[in-house]
Amino acid sequence: MALLTFTDRGIFCERANVYIDPWKPVDYAMITHGHADHSRWGSKHYLCTRTAAPVINYRLGDVNIETVEYGEVKTINGVKFSFHPAGHIIGSAQIRVEYKGEIWVASGDYKLEDDGLSEAYEPVKCQHFITESTFGLPVYRWVPQEEVFADINDWWRANKEDNQVSVVTAYALGKAQRLLQGLDPSLGTIYTHGAIENTNEVIRAQGIDLPPTVRVTQAIDKKEYPGNMVIATPGAVGQTWMKKFGRARVGAASGWMTLRGARRRRGADRGFVLSDHCDWPSLLEAIDLTGADNIYVTHGYTALFSKYLRGLGYNAVELETEYEGELAEIETKKEEEESVST
Ligand SMILES: [Zn+2]
Ligand SMILES: [Zn+2]
Repeated sequence: MALLTFTDRGIFCERANVYIDPWKPVDYAMITHGHADHSRWGSKHYLCTRTAAPVINYRLGDVNIETVEYGEVKTINGVKFSFHPAGHIIGSAQIRVEYKGEIWVASGDYKLEDDGLSEAYEPVKCQHFITESTFGLPVYRWVPQEEVFADINDWWRANKEDNQVSVVTAYALGKAQRLLQGLDPSLGTIYTHGAIENTNEVIRAQGIDLPPTVRVTQAIDKKEYPGNMVIATPGAVGQTWMKKFGRARVGAASGWMTLRGARRRRGADRGFVLSDHCDWPSLLEAIDLTGADNIYVTHGYTALFSKYLRGLGYNAVELETEYEGELAEIETKKEEEESVST
């Protein structure tokens, strides 16, 4: 029997009776990171990195969480588990599992570019590598984040000259903080949607510095907003929440902005290609760096990507999982897939 198997509850290590990112309640869940599709409520015991724990606690409520440091080895019934930086969001980890020379790595979500906020990705050698494929198509190629942030700040500056509010949408955990860190605070005040500010507060409370932000509330005079920046959740666009900003310009920061149509469907004037996942070249680079021959492809373009890997000589299979990719980022995926293949 393989050290890890794939069950209807999630990735399972039978020898240790441990699941990795299970989507149903289990006795013992090891969690790669705090996004909703990887970190689900109802398990009896959770294990994650020390820096991932505060936000998981905040999102899941009062759950039983044990933490480890990166690289620390936790042995259960002879199986050695350790967590290694995935570079995806603060505290995110790839989970390495070893027993009698058999080594697996479950990557969760990951990205190779160091964003200066998440602990930087480290390749981990293994024989079996479980990878996501959120952006596993050749069309997805990121430009360096410095260029993306320069574009966003230029756009903010131009909007400010027109006395317009700039609103950029970003997922509340991860993307919002990364965006915040790349904005130029000398241009004006940065306001945040409540869901984002709640997450910021959890992150600041764990001792991580973020640039100053102001929560959007009814108490703020509408006249305060023009020329300034608002970071909003993608779901807030088109809602009454936006009315207070008057004639705002809306930008969306997402890997999906690579594709025609995605910006329009988000109700955005501008799309900024910024992702916390690997693009196509970095997925291939990461897989090569692991040295693994056996690749298991989860959420994303699983069928297309695993087929491509088989063409390169890997023993690659696609997996049915209930990981969804960043919830807000996945909403138009089916349509995107069709628009790419035609
Ligand atoms: Zn994620
Ligand atoms: Zn994911």
